Amino acid sequence: MPIDTEKALGLLLAKENWLIRDIQVLDQEFRKEIKASTDNRHRTDPTDMASTGHANSSARHSQIGQLKRALNKVRRIIQGIENGTLDYGICEKCGEEIPDGRLELYPETTLCVPCKSGEERIKKRLFASQNGRLAAAIF
Ligand SMILES: [Zn+2]
Repeated sequence: MPIDTEKALGLLLAKENWLIRDIQVLDQEFRKEIKASTDNRHRTDPTDMASTGHANSSARHSQIGQLKRALNKVRRIIQGIENGTLDYGICEKCGEEIPDGRLELYPETTLCVPCKSGEERIKKRLFASQNGRLAAAIF
């Protein structure tokens, strides 16, 4: 059954917008935290607040990086579909068709489930350490 690329594009564009919004929100929080930890550094008595703020900022920074990578991937796939250069819905590792249900859940996926399962370990770690929404954005 051929993949409905129009529908896929709709899902991908929605995901793109959602990622852009999340990056903006995180970026604003990141800037606030950077400012807060800088302010703390100027105080005569640096408290635990300062180091906590710094740790949060680093986590936030890597979250932003992950979301930006996810955004780049979504954009790459949108371009590929629009240019006709991407065989959308075909696993880029083994060449098998990716099931429609999976594409509806993860329109940006370029791997079938068996090929993807090699990355499951990393995914589980992310789900444990970050919120599931973020992990879902990446995988
Ligand atoms: Zn595969």
